[in-house]
Amino acid sequence: MKPNVYSGGDIDRAAFMRRDENWLLARYADPRCRLVPMHGTRALVRRANSLVRAALPRRGEVAGLAERCGAPLFLGMVGDEAHFALDLTQLPEAAAPPELERFGEFAELRGVGAVLPAGEAALLAYARGLTHWHRSQLFCGRCGRPTESRQGGHVLACTDPACGTEHFPRTDPAIIVLVTAGDRCLLGRQARWTAGMFSTLAGFVEPGESLEETVAREVMEETGVRVARTRYHSSQPWPFPASLMLGFIAEAEHIVPPRVDPHELEAAAWFSRADIAAFGEQGRRLPGEDSIARRLIEEWLHQG
Ligand SMILES: [Zn+2]
Repeated sequence: MKPNVYSGGDIDRAAFMRRDENWLLARYADPRCRLVPMHGTRALVRRANSLVRAALPRRGEVAGLAERCGAPLFLGMVGDEAHFALDLTQLPEAAAPPELERFGEFAELRGVGAVLPAGEAALLAYARGLTHWHRSQLFCGRCGRPTESRQGGHVLACTDPACGTEHFPRTDPAIIVLVTAGDRCLLGRQARWTAGMFSTLAGFVEPGESLEETVAREVMEETGVRVARTRYHSSQPWPFPASLMLGFIAEAEHIVPPRVDPHELEAAAWFSRADIAAFGEQGRRLPGEDSIARRLIEEWLHQG
């Protein structure tokens, strides 16, 4: 099965090497190592005609830049080239710093994810998730003291030896589900979404809950529809900022008019394949092409 956007790629995370500080220092001291510059939620990309590519300068090409940033975060190896995410969020420049100007410009990953080569979208998503976690775990959640980066950035350890808690990157599981019944599927929309967009239902997994239970609960809470059979489809990293989407197809017991929870959704309805084909004429649209939601809907459309 084709990997979802933001997954796949050929990076070897070399997790077993993260504890070897000398090995990491040697990789980072190599001027040929690649940097993955991030600024807030944006990644450095270069555009050439209709193509978009990740801009991955070698460390030796941007002398001085690395020294102005926080600790480099080791992402892994592509062939014999080490890749390090570099968080430039602290730098005052809204645009790319001068050293990076000739390599590209910062862009929201969601805006280019579907047109980047798959491996590059996955690499940038990985860097986005890890840098976000570093910015949001500055202090120990147990004792409140500052944390410091360890193991190439994959551990943030409390600096108080009496506490010593090690924190690991957060990835929050969320289900996303296409509910079907005969020749119809159930889509909803949140008020904050782009006008006219309808998508699959989704929600976070709660403590002590199986994925199947989350699917049933979320669909019932958001629309009042009871699901019978639930089948796993595929997963997608969704570091916007820290989710892992677990995609399902579920069959509803009956087609009942959706009873929308206004705290969750603005609208929900059953749509036939013909209804969805006419979305464009009605000012409606499907979710972004980079999303697993879009894939679940598209695959169902083509089954009919
Ligand atoms: Zn602590």
